Amino acid sequence: MSLLQEAKNWVEVRPQGVFIKPLNAYIDPVRPVERALITHGHADHARAGHGTVIATPQTLDIMALRYGAAFAEHRIPLPYGERFDENQVTVSTASAGHVLGSAQLIIEYQGTRLVAAGDYKRSYDPTLAPFEVVPCDIFITEATFGLPVFHHPDPVEEVAKLMRMRALFPERSCFIGAYALGKAQRVMMLLRQAGYDDPIYIHGALQKLCDYYQSQDIDLGVLLPATAGQRGVSNPELRGKIIMGPPSALGGTWAHRLPDPIISFASGWMQVKARAKQRGVECPLIISDHADWPDLLQTIEDVNPRETWITHGSEEALLHELNKRGRVARALSLLGYESESEE
Ligand SMILES: [Zn+2]
Ligand SMILES: [Zn+2]
Repeated sequence: MSLLQEAKNWVEVRPQGVFIKPLNAYIDPVRPVERALITHGHADHARAGHGTVIATPQTLDIMALRYGAAFAEHRIPLPYGERFDENQVTVSTASAGHVLGSAQLIIEYQGTRLVAAGDYKRSYDPTLAPFEVVPCDIFITEATFGLPVFHHPDPVEEVAKLMRMRALFPERSCFIGAYALGKAQRVMMLLRQAGYDDPIYIHGALQKLCDYYQSQDIDLGVLLPATAGQRGVSNPELRGKIIMGPPSALGGTWAHRLPDPIISFASGWMQVKARAKQRGVECPLIISDHADWPDLLQTIEDVNPRETWITHGSEEALLHELNKRGRVARALSLLGYESESEE
């Protein structure tokens, strides 16, 4: 009997998300529900309007920053390593290594352990605790980069590539597009570790989350608000400087108002050359907050579940590969998680 059958008295796959019956709670529900267990603060996983939200304190803070303090009626903070018990179910959290506060949800009921990893990665991120391997019966994994072509290089080497390009063109400014939650701060830390001590100029869309990371003792160095330029005249002070902003600023005129900008974008999708070209990216940085293909497979080996359930991304390829390796796996075919928008 499959674990989905065996566990059906306490876990169900519904259109809103994976449902834990004795808790009356959904994992990362895509619609407002009475009770939600949230893995992390990205918008496709953490939505506003739930009755009660159970999440790490940092994820709760991030939701309040994004949606306002009234994002849910009640909140239950669950720091890493602590437990929440109700109706014979125990919930705890462990780092997913994805963004600040991101958690794998460890849910135990009558001797069966389910781990919902949310989004996760194994590669180096100086802003976070690394992914923690939690052995379990049912492992719910994402598959954003679930195709054999995806091998993400060392992020330190990617940043070194950018620094070499800047050295070649010291007069040009450098604009790096990066998602506001997680990626931007990770790139900032990598730049600091590569020896970049000057202020980093930031687009207003990054301000709140950068302030939040700094308040959590993640030292991003001096960040100053960036004024790209006015009336078609670029701001000369930004010559030779690094400026960061959200990916949306790549498409508009904002980044192009900077003085002779080197346009860069930090994303796992930058491995796809056509995408870099399409977005006018001169210096693509292949830096991803998701596991690449080898890391997805390695993680499933490490966790060694009896069954793997695959949520979003390239489910079919991962399912096929796991079956080939003699592992029991199923695609949950849940809709509403956009791997595209966040990476
Ligand atoms: Zn995410
Ligand atoms: Zn996701």
